[in-house]
Amino acid sequence: LTEKFSNVIEKLKRAKKLDEKVVDEALKDIKIALLEADVHVDVVKEFIEDIKKKIIGQEVIKGLSAGETVIKLLYDEVINILGGEEASSIAKPEKPPAIIMLVGLQGTGKTTTAGKLAKYLKSKGYKVGVASTDVRRPAAAKQLCTLASSIDIPCFVDENEKDALKLTEKVIEDAKKQGFSYIILDTAGRLHIDEELMEELKQIKEKVKPAEVIYVADAMQGQDAINTAEEFHKAVGLTGVILTKLDGDAKGGIALSIRKVIGVPIKFIGTGEKIDALEPFYPDRIAQRILGLGDIQSLIEKMQAAIEEDKAKEMAQKVMNAEFTLEDLREQIRMIRSMGPLENILKMIPGIGAQIKNLKVDEKKFVQIEAIINSMTPEERMKPHIINGSRKKRIAKGSGTTIVDVNKVLKQYEEMKKMMKKFKKSGKMFNPFGKFG
Ligand code: GDP
Ligand code: MG
Repeated sequence: LTEKFSNVIEKLKRAKKLDEKVVDEALKDIKIALLEADVHVDVVKEFIEDIKKKIIGQEVIKGLSAGETVIKLLYDEVINILGGEEASSIAKPEKPPAIIMLVGLQGTGKTTTAGKLAKYLKSKGYKVGVASTDVRRPAAAKQLCTLASSIDIPCFVDENEKDALKLTEKVIEDAKKQGFSYIILDTAGRLHIDEELMEELKQIKEKVKPAEVIYVADAMQGQDAINTAEEFHKAVGLTGVILTKLDGDAKGGIALSIRKVIGVPIKFIGTGEKIDALEPFYPDRIAQRILGLGDIQSLIEKMQAAIEEDKAKEMAQKVMNAEFTLEDLREQIRMIRSMGPLENILKMIPGIGAQIKNLKVDEKKFVQIEAIINSMTPEERMKPHIINGSRKKRIAKGSGTTIVDVNKVLKQYEEMKKMMKKFKKSGKMFNPFGKFG
């Protein structure tokens, strides 16, 4: 798994249940891991409390150890907070032009993101324009327009208009006339939160009724980012967040903090300075990054394997009880073909282990047997003795084989059943697949 959690796994090696003591022990390391990933301290505290309640008393997941179970539950919870499995998206332009306001402090990546987002929406077939509401810094508008022209996106400008509100109004009016679907508004930033800026943003929002107010957050910012985000949220009511500069060493903890404190979805991540470096936000990827789980896949595979093992055990039981139908035979063939775990089934049968080393499976034969069984009705599979001449003809036709092939499968199946019965009586070893090998 990962270095970070090898401690948790080691500590809980002997644990059979997730009781309070076990969970507390694991959470100590988890707390450190979250802090190291730049999750805000208050958020960590609250998160640890919440997850503790959720984990205590849970069953250890089949196929995983207690420590691995804790990590899997932790991972699931982080994904859950980050917004579930799905990537979120930008509001549809119901009353065009839909205005997307980008807000945030200076240097977080608003202008760059305006360009990226414009390109993204254009690639989805929308008519998109950009505009800057920064009337104090002509250079800001110029930066945006240069970026826009590089991707062939109209940039709405009026250098003579020094009132941000009036400028915005005019932009929207023009965009409406020209049938734009989206206008991305790149707003002015400051180095720190200031009243004047907040007032300006509030007024712009009031005026243009944006479809989205997106906070652009620099993932490298660390602990303060969350306070700033809160201030913006209070002032203008955010609808989403774009997290920039995730191409660096940012651990992504800010994503968890923002989701937990502000609650709005994270829509995209910025992964570079180039105009294409915008990706949808996938909660599972960020969860893995925050937790430093390079290999969560292996946990999931282990769980999967445990489920398959259960199926194999059930099958072995059927073999031993000689309740084996053609339905079961088909199920076994499917398992064998999907993952080749013939051994898994056989080794559940006492005394068989040593024999299976020499077992060879002919893939083509299995395909044919499966096709033949597929062409039978469920009733025929459960009661093969009803399969008469005309049914055989139908099955052969349906499976693209001959009556001889169908007869062969039925004969092999009968022999297997006979052997099973014998096996059950004598308790001796047998290999139900020998006939097909
Ligand atoms: P603004 O002041 O909020 O408009 O920020 P800018 O868009 O001007 O970006 C500030 C700096 O951050 C520029 O040098 C950008 O190239 C850089 N930047 C923006 N987004 C990203 C990103 O996702 N990754 C990296 N590595 N740099 C970025
Ligand atoms: Mg800018």
